Amino acid sequence: MKVLVINAGSSSLKYQLLDPATQEVLAQGLCERIGIDGRLTHKVPATGGKFEFEIAMPTHAEAIQAVLDALTNPEHGVIQSMSEIDAVGHRVVHGGEKFASSVLITDEVLAAIEECVPLAPLHNPANITGIKACQSVMPGVPMVAVFDTAFHQTMPAHSYIYALPYEYYEKDKVRRYGFHGTSHKYVAGRAAAMLGKPLEELKIVTCHLGNGSSVTAVDGGKSVDTSMGFTPLAGLPMGTRSGDLDAGILEFLMNKYGYDIKEMLNILNKKSGVLGISGVSSDFRDLDAAAEQGNGRAALAVEAFNYSVKKLIGAYAAAMGGVDAIVFTAGVGENSASNRLAIASGLEFMGVKMDAEANNTRGKEAVISAPDSKVKVLLIPTNEELMIAQDTAAIVGK
Ligand code: AMP
Repeated sequence: MKVLVINAGSSSLKYQLLDPATQEVLAQGLCERIGIDGRLTHKVPATGGKFEFEIAMPTHAEAIQAVLDALTNPEHGVIQSMSEIDAVGHRVVHGGEKFASSVLITDEVLAAIEECVPLAPLHNPANITGIKACQSVMPGVPMVAVFDTAFHQTMPAHSYIYALPYEYYEKDKVRRYGFHGTSHKYVAGRAAAMLGKPLEELKIVTCHLGNGSSVTAVDGGKSVDTSMGFTPLAGLPMGTRSGDLDAGILEFLMNKYGYDIKEMLNILNKKSGVLGISGVSSDFRDLDAAAEQGNGRAALAVEAFNYSVKKLIGAYAAAMGGVDAIVFTAGVGENSASNRLAIASGLEFMGVKMDAEANNTRGKEAVISAPDSKVKVLLIPTNEELMIAQDTAAIVGK
């Protein structure tokens, strides 16, 4: 079976054509500058081929058509015709309380995704545009929506409720939703496979640490708490997002500097996090380099980040009444031995013992705790596209 995975943004569109059974990636790429001019980068892993094209993409429909042309091109294509694509899996950011799992896209489902637009006004409209563009260019091909929020719908009410007047939850659906669900679900499943134990019997803390970061408590395969909230702005300090903060700070800064809410949110989303603290960069590699040169604020940003992750691991161990495994994934989690070591240090009291040598691994699955560590610490590269393709295959195969 061949599944085309689509992740549509407002002016970009990422794609991957893969076989969910063999996990082989046949082709992958990116359309950029949709609605401006249009650029396509197409890669074929089997040959190492990389192709770049300037193609007019006034809308997402032309972008999808360009992807199909690239996939079926006699020179750099990987399939003979579009009919070889059995299904399309779409990443959709927000499924609200309506979707607790992936779903076949019907008119009713599309309408329900539209109803979630107020919850994700930047992301869902782009995802919907991508779905509609695919439907117009690939009529009759089954399509599945895979939601970033769905995995977290198993959270109990005491985890997702905010201590606000209850009517904001009842009427307006203001609650914790959580994001990165596809990634947390994927790495939790891989952790169980690596440990050779049923997922249902494990308590796992999954740490998705990248430009955006979140930590999730996965008890028996179900998300029971997660650090992102109503929006992805909550939880850990991130590349440029503040993470949790005292809401009173907003009033203080808005009054003092005359910011309106848009300016304030721009600061919280784009100018805060480790970039805000350091004044150097949102990229942890730059921060490490600056810290090594003696930049105290870069060092402080990394320390504040690591400390926040460590605190959440402790909190989620308490929430689950124990922890069997801690998983590190995404850009920082997969690549930064120093961050992982700093996060785990001080957790010896709860049975975490790192293996410094094993921890010197990058980008591949590994057990990075000592053999006698009570809590296993795992490095697991995330693979959201594979998870989307597997969900899609399972639903379409039904
Ligand atoms: P992601 O959002 O998952 O793509 O992660 C991107 C982030 O991973 C970048 O902003 C970097 O901060 C971080 N990253 C990638 N490689 C390394 C590395 N070798 N050491 C530290 N951080 C890294």
